[in-house]
Parts: sequence; C-alpha cells; structure tokens
Amino acid sequence: MSRKITGATAVAGVAGAPVRHSLSPIIHNAWIAAAEIDAVYVPFAPCGDDFHRFAEGLRGGVIRGLNVTVPFKEAALSVSDDVSERAALAGAVNLLVFDEDGRITGDNVDGLGLLGAFAAQAPDFDPKAGPVVIIGAGGAARGAAAAFIAAGAPEVRIINRTLAKAEIVAGALGRRARAYSLNGAAIAFEEVTAVINATSAGLSQETLDLPLDATPKAAIVMDMTYKPLDTPFLKQAQTLQRRTVDGLEMLIGQAGPSFEAFFGRTPPKSVDVRALCIEALGAKA
Ligand code: NDP
Repeated sequence: MSRKITGATAVAGVAGAPVRHSLSPIIHNAWIAAAEIDAVYVPFAPCGDDFHRFAEGLRGGVIRGLNVTVPFKEAALSVSDDVSERAALAGAVNLLVFDEDGRITGDNVDGLGLLGAFAAQAPDFDPKAGPVVIIGAGGAARGAAAAFIAAGAPEVRIINRTLAKAEIVAGALGRRARAYSLNGAAIAFEEVTAVINATSAGLSQETLDLPLDATPKAAIVMDMTYKPLDTPFLKQAQTLQRRTVDGLEMLIGQAGPSFEAFFGRTPPKSVDVRALCIEALGAKA
C-alpha cells in the first residue's frame, strides 16, 4: 500500500513501552486507507518516565490524538486537562485527544471495547441479567468494572491476587461491587453471567488456576489477553463447554471510538481488521 504523505496529513498514534507489537497501527491504518482519509497512525515509544514531556510537546494541534497503553495509562490521566467520567472512575486513560487550542482531553474507551466484544461474540449477553466477575484490579479491571456498572450490571465481583487492591477498586465503585480473594473464586463464580480475566498473568506466561466449573453452564468467559488468541484460560472454559469472548475483539472494539475521536468518522466496515490482526499475530482464526 503506497500512501502520499503531504504537509496536510493528519497524525495520530499509539504510545506504549514496548509498542513494537501493538496491533493498533495495523487497525487504524487499514481504516484510514479504506476511508481514504489523509492521515497516518504511528507508534511512539517514549522512554521511561518521560511520558509527560512527550505529551506536553504534542499540545496545540501537532497531533490529533493518541491511544495509550502499558505503562502510561496513569501518566496519561495526570497529563489530561479534562478527564471523562469513565476515565476518572477507571483511574486510567487510554485515549488522549489534542485540541488545536492546546488542551488535552483524556478518555477511557476500554470499557466500550469490552462491551463491544460481548456484542460481537456473545450477542445475547445482557449485562443487566446477573452478577459479573472481573479477575484483576489494575487499570483494565477498573475500566471493565466501571463499564459493567454503567451498563446496569446488578453486581460486579472483583477477584484479585492482592485482596486489598480488589477492596479499593470495589470501594470506589460503590454498593454494587464486592471484593474477593483468589481463594474465594468458587463462591464469586456462583450465579454469574460472565467472567472476565483482566489480569496480566498471560503476559508472563503464568496461568490462572481457577475453578471455572463453579460458573453456571450459560456463563460467558472472556480473556483480555489476545496473544495467543486462544489463551489457556479460554481453552479451560471451552473444555467446560462455556462460550468465550476474546481480547482481540475488545482491542478492535476500543479502536472504533478512538478512530472517531481522531478523525470524526466511523470506521469503514469494508476492511476486515480482525483478519489483518490475526495474520499479524500469526494465530489461526
Ligand atoms: P495492571 O498491571 O494494572 O494489573 C495487572 C493485574 O493482574 C493485577 O490485578 C495483578 O494482581 C494481576 N496479576 C498479574 N499476574 C498475576 C498472576 N500470575 N496471577 C493472578 N493475578 C495476576 O495491568 P492492566 O490492568 O493495565 O492490564 C491487564 C491485562 O489486560 C494486560 O494483559 C493487558 O494487556 C490487557 N488489556 C487488554 C486490552 C484489550 O483491548 N484486549 C485492553 C487493556 C488491557 P496484583 O494486584 O495482585 O498484582
């Protein structure tokens, strides 16, 4: 694909460290090409503690916006002049929009991506139908919990290795949230409609050893990790005949509202970005 970059070409991107394996440039540049927008989406790997300096230098129309990934989501929150309610609730920003007047707006669209993934892969799932379990208490878990509360889940159960962190997250979410330790997972799984793995265990090749057989047969199991696409957690769920939702669909789900924020257009449907990502992951569909 050859593209003409001119003085008028708009720039957006993703910031992370490492950023080399990010699939966001593949998704956004495919949409840019299909929508015939004069724009480009590039990766940035600001070093170490320098996220603030990096973001400050982009103020005032240098760039349309940035997706922000590990480890800069909290720094992105603190660099924002205005923060959306859902980002404040999540305590993390994954989308920065740079206005031409110099202001930076922080948002968190991970929750939208998560609900979009359920809508795509488990369309009959109703967040209002029963309790939901989220495993993990980091930024991704907080964003997910906030999204399910906003979508009307009657109860959100946060399970975390470090119980104290789960208690802080549940406390911030209000009376519909409860905290559990990993040892309490079997109790937390009772009568749930969905279980979401929002831990980073998969990144370090660690496996979660949790009693998924304690979930109802109709429960849907989701894993935010998408490399590999079929994680050990999802395989365990499939062996128990639970339906599953994968993390790649969530990544694509959060890219949609980001694209709209950068370029004011909905992503074109004519390009199969999921297939492009699977090809890049070297995984099977
Ligand atoms: P954080 O580092 O903020 O949080 C990590 C969480 O994982 C903590 O709760 C930690 O528990 C828990 N954890 C880590 N290792 C283990 C383990 N071996 N066993 C049990 N729990 C463990 O990460 P984020 O919240 O930012 O991200 C979490 C994951 O979600 C990452 O893998 C990330 O790539 C993925 N993600 C995917 C997205 C997508 O679009 N698909 C979007 C956003 C995130 P403790 O508190 O005890 O340390």
